[in-house]
Amino acid sequence: MASLNAAAADTATFGGAALQVSGLRKSYTGQTVVDGVDFTVPAATCFGLLGPNGAGKTTTLRCCLGLTPADAGTIRLAGHVLPEQAEVARTRVGVVPQLDNLDPDFSSRENLLVYGRYFGISDAVLRARIPDLLDFAGLSGKEGANIQSLSGGMKRRLTLARALINDPDIVFLDEPTTGLDPQARHLIWDRLKRLIAHGKTLILTTHFMDEAERLCDRLAILDHGRLIAEGAPRELIARHIEPQVVEIFGDAATTWARRRQGLGERLETAGDTAFFYCRDAAPLLGALAGTLTLRYVHRAASLEDVFLKLTGRDLRD
Ligand code: ADP
Repeated sequence: MASLNAAAADTATFGGAALQVSGLRKSYTGQTVVDGVDFTVPAATCFGLLGPNGAGKTTTLRCCLGLTPADAGTIRLAGHVLPEQAEVARTRVGVVPQLDNLDPDFSSRENLLVYGRYFGISDAVLRARIPDLLDFAGLSGKEGANIQSLSGGMKRRLTLARALINDPDIVFLDEPTTGLDPQARHLIWDRLKRLIAHGKTLILTTHFMDEAERLCDRLAILDHGRLIAEGAPRELIARHIEPQVVEIFGDAATTWARRRQGLGERLETAGDTAFFYCRDAAPLLGALAGTLTLRYVHRAASLEDVFLKLTGRDLRD
């Protein structure tokens, strides 16, 4: 579709970086919530910002959109310096907020039309663009549908279509699949991959490590306002975690595991589960084969292992 293809040609105009953040700081009432954050998002890639609740992700993204003034640091978004050029930068950006804030008084088509007018786009251009966007979102035939009649997945996809109404180069997505069932999540992932393939830059926050692993070329983990790791998902796993993980569950699992700590490079326990991190899991699997009562899973190390190792297993409320 024409409006998606246009982005690839534009990427050259900002020297390869869609977003450059350097030395970003923000405090609220004396508490530092973003504490010297630096990262760069190359154009036409997908970048994930991960972190426990309260880590500073939303504040960072709000600063990057020019919605919250930073205390210090420099931000270039789509080649424009923020906050001075925030208004022009935002014309190149689409936003999918965490909660769908579609207007319930309007149909699907009207939601896109009204939103597009905020960018000063003519009704003629919008009317030409909307059928393509609804088709992209899998909402053909739902042009006149009342918002309340749409499922959660449809609303998310309509919000995504709305974020594309100004044909942005960069799309910010705040937890794009939270609250969706697996089918709806897969459909959103498919559409996001299509956007990346068409040269859009995606910047997303998510609590789903599988989502980050699937979609992101690079990601950063933020905790207590600081970036504590950054890299490609596979790189981060290789850098921080032994390649094989064996999870052992059940009443006697942690006691059994502590007595055999030497069978893995690292052992962690959480509740009634023991996590062995191993370079070679064969000896441990051999020992487990001799037990009748313990249940276990042998799997490859994942991004979630990295996240939990770096940010801990304690609850953040
Ligand atoms: P995250 O998105 O990673 O959950 P946030 O950026 O929302 O983190 O919040 C980081 C910290 O900043 C939290 O302690 C939060 O309570 C605080 N905070 C965020 N926005 C404000 C605000 N407008 N006023 C005061 N404190 C805020």
